[in-house]
Amino acid sequence: MKTHVRVLVIGGGAVGVSTLYHLTRKGLTDVALIERTELTAGSTWHAAGLLPLFNMSYTVGQLHKYSVDLYKRLPAETGQDVSFHVTGNLRLATCRERMDEYYKYCGTANTIGVPFEVITPQRVKELWPLIELGGDDDTPAIIGALYHPDDGHIAPADLTMALRKGARTAGAEIYEHTEAVAIERTASGEWRVRTAQGGDITAEHLVLATGNYARQTGRLLGLNIPAIPVEHQYIVYDESPELKAYRQRGGRELAVLRESDKSYYLREERMGWILGPYERGAPARFADGVPEWFGRSLFPGDLDRLVPHVEAATRRVPALEHCGIKDVVNGPISYTPDGSPLIGPAWDVRNVWLNEGHSFGITAAGGAGWQLAEWIVEGEPGIDMLAVDPRRFGPYTSKRYVVKKNEETYRNVFTVHFPDEERPEGRPAKTSPVYDKLSARGAVWGQRYGWERANWFAPPGVERRDQWSFRRSNYFEHVGNEARLMRERVGVIDLTPFTKHEVQGPGAESWLDGLVANKVPTKTGRMALSHALTPRGGIRSEFTITKIAEQHYYVVSAGAAERYDSDYLCKSLPADGSVVLRNITNTRGCFVLAGPRSRDVLAQLTDTPLDNSAFPWLTAQVIEAGLAVDVYALRVNFVGSLGWELHFPIEYAHHLFDALFEAGAPHGIGMVGMRAMESLRLEKSYRMWGSDITPDYTPFEASLDRFVRIKKGAFIGREALERQLSAGVPNRFVTLEVHGVKDADPLGNEPLFDKAGRMIGRATSGYYGHCLKKSLAIGYARTEFATPGTELSIEILGERKRATVLPESPYDPENLELRA
Ligand SMILES: Cc1cc2nc3c(=O)[nH]c(=O)nc-3n(C[C@H](O)[C@H](O)[C@H](O)COP(=O)(O)OP(=O)(O)OC[C@H]3O[C@@H](n4cnc5c(N)ncnc54)[C@H](O)[C@@H]3O)c2cc1C
Repeated sequence: MKTHVRVLVIGGGAVGVSTLYHLTRKGLTDVALIERTELTAGSTWHAAGLLPLFNMSYTVGQLHKYSVDLYKRLPAETGQDVSFHVTGNLRLATCRERMDEYYKYCGTANTIGVPFEVITPQRVKELWPLIELGGDDDTPAIIGALYHPDDGHIAPADLTMALRKGARTAGAEIYEHTEAVAIERTASGEWRVRTAQGGDITAEHLVLATGNYARQTGRLLGLNIPAIPVEHQYIVYDESPELKAYRQRGGRELAVLRESDKSYYLREERMGWILGPYERGAPARFADGVPEWFGRSLFPGDLDRLVPHVEAATRRVPALEHCGIKDVVNGPISYTPDGSPLIGPAWDVRNVWLNEGHSFGITAAGGAGWQLAEWIVEGEPGIDMLAVDPRRFGPYTSKRYVVKKNEETYRNVFTVHFPDEERPEGRPAKTSPVYDKLSARGAVWGQRYGWERANWFAPPGVERRDQWSFRRSNYFEHVGNEARLMRERVGVIDLTPFTKHEVQGPGAESWLDGLVANKVPTKTGRMALSHALTPRGGIRSEFTITKIAEQHYYVVSAGAAERYDSDYLCKSLPADGSVVLRNITNTRGCFVLAGPRSRDVLAQLTDTPLDNSAFPWLTAQVIEAGLAVDVYALRVNFVGSLGWELHFPIEYAHHLFDALFEAGAPHGIGMVGMRAMESLRLEKSYRMWGSDITPDYTPFEASLDRFVRIKKGAFIGREALERQLSAGVPNRFVTLEVHGVKDADPLGNEPLFDKAGRMIGRATSGYYGHCLKKSLAIGYARTEFATPGTELSIEILGERKRATVLPESPYDPENLELRA
């Protein structure tokens, strides 16, 4: 066994072996994998082998697409068959919401180039002759279906062996019966892995791909990895006479069938069937680690949980009635609180990479290995990986939280994924101090990064509940009233979840300046919207950097980016101790006070002059507000009206809230929620980190040129921006007015087309602009289509709508209100 390698992968399932394979494809041959028993011995050996291309996530969809393409070419490349049956995949719909979900998905599929068809019930019957189209309460009528002709199912063990062969041929080493039992950092900063079998291996980079063992592997490094498996079962049926007869008549292998509204999948297996439900009540397992006795074993089948799905499937496919059950496979399937895997750098430790938490690990293995290898070798992935970045979760993922969330995610695999859905488990967990006060004002809560956030406020007499939908729903009118309140009078948004860092010390300014593309403010009281870029020039983070005092900066970024940004900042700190970084997210609250009357309200709480000359737009002061001291007042906001963000020591939250509402009462002050903020920020073309600005786009493509000081000196990503400037910027940010919308506004991930019907871009966000009374989308179009006035079309829930490119910031383009 080698004692030193560049990269060591721990875990020999489909995901680990794919990572090894892709590292070799990136030219690394000094790589090895250790597996505690035998390859595939974890979850891989018993997976059903389905490869669904369907996924609502733009990122995960791209990973799955890559996998399916790779698996088709692997046999020729490696000489090892993978038993890929390209049967296609058929997802049934029996209600309008399901069709809306499919149409929403089609937008994503179009933008990533996944072939699909939306088909009629008649076509379903042609493709799947053994199906009942239904039409009663027990077996509702099929009203349509989504068909992927290109995917199907594969033999997971064969796939792993093909990847193994590809990796080994290229020089990678694989050591079975070699278990990592301790990991320590060497003096040179590498990782020494102790194995149960005696030998040590030292590696520059470690990849953890340990499936159900992620909790205990994480503990070896002090990481609390939010991946806990849930029981998942499928039934293997004996031969089916009807299926056999159909195949003997020359029928082709039937597509993998999913009746999402009854939460099961069905596929052929040796003239019989495999039926896999996603049941309610499936328990999380191994929250404290996999016990020694489990090994390659399975859990006993739980037939009670299976019965409702078996009955539904038998009504839909009566052929099931005539075949006996051969086996029930019940195994642990790794889950995370949002159902997406953890692919990317671990937090707090350097050169440790996670490829964990895979619930569709056979489908994802190819893409996950591809992008992780890219990240390790190139320093960044080739596509936007924010949706799977392990740092999208934070320290709030306690064991009980993860158990509740993972069980919830599992039982919702097949429910309709509404864009405004807010799932209830594990809530409320993190709350702002004024949570009860907002509840008393009618808050309808949502959750992000563990934080409760008020999405909207139900007026007296209105039920505090969402009716989730892909279309305008019960809260539309109330969100509109909140938006107008902000534009016409004065509103408050509680943005306490913002990520907040304090950066101090003699090296603070030059260190920050090297991280971001904008010039860091040099004068106390000045602020700058700044972007940290990837080496390829994509936008990795957005920071509002305010100079509070000499050698003292206050850095604010998105609430959901706390661990992501904190980890990046920490790992980038200079070694000389000249900069002190503190994450103060939980010690400062934030209220946005905005609207034309906001100055009058704040003036009652402070002696600090607030007029334009004393406190201009884009400046900050440390003020007293009411009884609160040390309040950072930033004259900036995300809604585009006159106003201040008040960042206060958290202990003043109640006082400041009451004081604002007392002073604001004569001005008609009210609370404003996240959905109204979405409407207001789109009217101003403000980009949201994570959806509108991502590593996929440079600041030039995002038309954020005014926040880039290319000549200021070195910063990460500068060379790439210079190259892009000389080669030409391929895409540009656009704001679109969408015409003829009656009830389904764009929401993001819709394709954009030119007049000839060619796809030329994608929307990244959309909403109804309640004050402009326009349906709006923002996103990216090829540069030649980004000029204001250009006529495009956008596909929303399957319908093409006319869309006109507007000049940026359709509401108050000259920022007169912000400067008022
Ligand atoms: C019943 C069932 C059906 C499924 N069907 C499908 C399907 O149809 N399609 C699909 O895409 N997915 C399916 N899955 C999910 C799929 O099985 C997993 O997502 C996938 O196998 C995960 O692969 P992995 O490599 O991440 O983990 P694993 O296959 O579990 O591999 C992890 C490996 O790490 C090793 N290991 C752990 N700790 C150490 C250590 N300290 N040192 C060395 N080695 C270690 C383990 O022994 C194990 O071999 C199914 C799962 C179940 C339970």
